[in-house]
This record gives sequence, C-alpha cells and structure tokens, in this order.
Amino acid sequence: MDLAGLLETDRSTVWHPYAAMPAPDPARLVTSASGACIDVVDPALGLVRLVDGMASWWSAVHGYRHPVLDRAATDQLGKMSHVMFGGLTHEPAIHLAERLVELAPGDLAHVFFSDSGSVAVEVAMKMCLQHWLSLGRPSKRRFLTWRGGYHGDTWSPMSVCDPEGGMHHHWSGLLAQQVFADVPPAGFDAEPDEAYRAQLRSLVAADADDLAAIIVEPVMQGAGGMRFHNPAYLRDLRALADEHDVLLIFDEIATGFGRTGAFFAAEHAGIAPDVMCVGKALTGGYLSMGATLCTPRVAAGIAAGEVPVLAHGPTFMANPLAAAIANASLDVLDTGAWSADVARIEAGLRSGLSPLADAPGVADVRVLGAVGVVQLDHDVDVAAATAAAIAAGAWLRPFRDLIYTTPPFLCTDEEIATITAAIAAAAAVA
Ligand SMILES: *Cc1c(COP(=O)(O)O)cnc(C)c1O
Repeated sequence: MDLAGLLETDRSTVWHPYAAMPAPDPARLVTSASGACIDVVDPALGLVRLVDGMASWWSAVHGYRHPVLDRAATDQLGKMSHVMFGGLTHEPAIHLAERLVELAPGDLAHVFFSDSGSVAVEVAMKMCLQHWLSLGRPSKRRFLTWRGGYHGDTWSPMSVCDPEGGMHHHWSGLLAQQVFADVPPAGFDAEPDEAYRAQLRSLVAADADDLAAIIVEPVMQGAGGMRFHNPAYLRDLRALADEHDVLLIFDEIATGFGRTGAFFAAEHAGIAPDVMCVGKALTGGYLSMGATLCTPRVAAGIAAGEVPVLAHGPTFMANPLAAAIANASLDVLDTGAWSADVARIEAGLRSGLSPLADAPGVADVRVLGAVGVVQLDHDVDVAAATAAAIAAGAWLRPFRDLIYTTPPFLCTDEEIATITAAIAAAAAVA
C-alpha cells in the first residue's frame, strides 16, 4: 500500500487517542526510532528525523532501541514471551517485584502486576475498598482527591480524574461520587497556603467514615494540567490519613523513575503512601505494564476478610517479556546517570523556556525535573503548533492551553535546545 493509502485506511479504520472516528485529519506515519529521535513522514516535509519531546508520553526515558533493553527483549524472546501467572511464576517477575520493593519508599512490600497504568489504579482502588470491606467497615467506599488530577481512562480512575477535564457531566449518575478538594495551589517552591491546608483537613475530617483512601499524583499533576505543587501538602495528606484511618494512594505513573528529579516523587515529601501505582516508564516505554505496590497492613486487611483473595487477575499479568525489559530499564537507571541527566535537562529547559515568559499569548512557564511546560492564555491550535514544532525539528503533542515536553533522559544539550526552540515556534503560531 502506498503512503496515501496507508494514511487513508488509518484515518477511516483505526481509532487514535481522544479522537473522532473517522478522524478529520490524517496522523503522521512513524517508520522507525532510535536514540532520542523518531523518523516521521510529514505531509509537507517528507521523511524527517525529529527529537521526541514527548518520550512517547513520559515513557521512553532511555530513548528508542537502547542496546541494553533490546538485548533483554531478544534474550527473553528466546525463552518465552508470555506464560499465564495463575499457579505459575518466573524469574523476570520475581526479580522485578523485589527491585520495585527495594526502590519504593517506606514499607511497600507487595507488588501486583497489571497491563497498564489505568488498571494499576483500578487495582489500587479495589485494594483499598476490599481492605475496609474485609475489616468490617463497608461504609468506607469513597475516595478523596484534589481537582486537576489524571488517573487514567477506565471507569474507577475516571471517577477521580478532574471532574471538568474528565467530563464528569457526561457520566453523571454512572461514575462513583468522590470527594474533591480544590486544585492544589501552584508552585513546587511556593509557600504552603494555610487556607488550602485547612480545606484538606476539614474535607478529610468530615468524610472520614466514608473514605476508603485519598488518591493523588505526588508533586506533579500530569495530563490533568501539568501543574506542580509544594510537597508539604503531601505530608499533610499523610498525617490526615493516619489520623482519620484512611489509606493514602500515590499515583506515580507519570512521576516515577526519575522524571521529577527524585526517583519517586514521594521522596520530595519524605513520606510514603500505603499504596503506590507505577506504569509508563516502568518498561522504559517498550511495552505496556503497570504495577500496584502496597504495605503489609493493606494486604493483611484484605486477607482478614471472608473472601481473603484480591479479586483481580489480568490475562497478561506479569508478562515475562515486559518484566524482563523493565528489569533492563532498572539496570540502566541503577547506574545513577539519570540523576545528573535530569538535572542537566532541567537546566536546559529553564534556560530555553524562561525567555518565553514574556512572549505574547504566554501565561506561564514552569519547569520541574525533566518536564517543561509553557501555558498559553488560550487553547492551542494543535495542527499549527505541531507543524511549527516539526519544522523546528521536534515532535510535540500539545493539549488544551499547554505546550509541554517530557524528553528522554539521554537527550543531549543540543537535542534539548531543539525541543525548546520547537516549543517557542509552536507557541508563536498557536
Ligand atoms: C498515563 C497515566 C495513567 C494511565 O496510564 P495508562 O497506561 O494510559 O492506562 C494513570 N495515572 C497517571 C498519573 C498517568 O499519567
């Protein structure tokens, strides 16, 4: 099939994320990727090599075709790519679980593997509900979160996504009614806001008898609006959860594995949750895999019930190929180079993006770790912004009023400069 034929079949047959069917515009064809770059066929420019400013939505932290991850995939294919997990186990899963427990903050001693981030959040919420049910407190079945969050697109995660971004009005009466605090006040370094802390206190106290858990993205809200907040609010949530017998879930699916400058974002606050979700960069962006970690206390609560088993078991649970690649990704992270790389990228993003703060149409510029965000005072013209970024040499995927980057950690300073120039070009036409 020629290029035009491929793109027309794609447009009329294949659904894309958050897209209409059939799509009004064709997608761009990717032919290959290596290092920090993807090779893309652009309708105007032909085949171009672009720096991937998105790292395939936070996940490809080591870039593409990394030799260590490629070798792990090939070696594992020579043994088995999958085997069921009911009654069977294998070394890739055992090693990965052991390493996640070691890396995770606090006492997160047990690991439940699943196939994606959304399912990891489903499992986290189910763990908390079943914990209280098993302990004879069935009224504790609601979740508290703050507005502006994103936890995935399946049903339970949707109920704790930002009510407006998640379009809750579409689903009124169908989604569980959760408890929402306001969006956390902006700024990683901003002074904690006493009125906001009081709001968190009063919401948790008022609903404690009905609350199974508090669920938030620590330090950085991702797809819900790319906002950063002071880690002090996380310490408040930890204290409130302890005081009122509520569990605390951290969704580290976007923030985990170094993205914010700490290995897990919880470390910025110096506390640990009772349940933690990981995904996205877990396999270095090679395959879809999520995991939910919990403390012995959470597991013991479930085990105390009339039905002592956790009622969940995905077909592709702990997929050996994904687990082997995740172990290789952790091998690369274990060298510790990510920490200097993220600090270097943070500096590059700051120097490249801060001049944009005064540009027309720009409302805010913010950087934390290997995340750079330019917020406009209007919604982005995605088609125009994408074309401008591609002409400047980078792949970006803006949404709402946000042009942002989450680059692979192996980006050179030149590649980061290409990304920030592309963001500037996109902001100028958006
Ligand atoms: C992406 C994301 C999810 C959902 O993960 P999927 O793998 O897309 O299902 C959940 N929570 C956060 C914070 C995310 O960034």
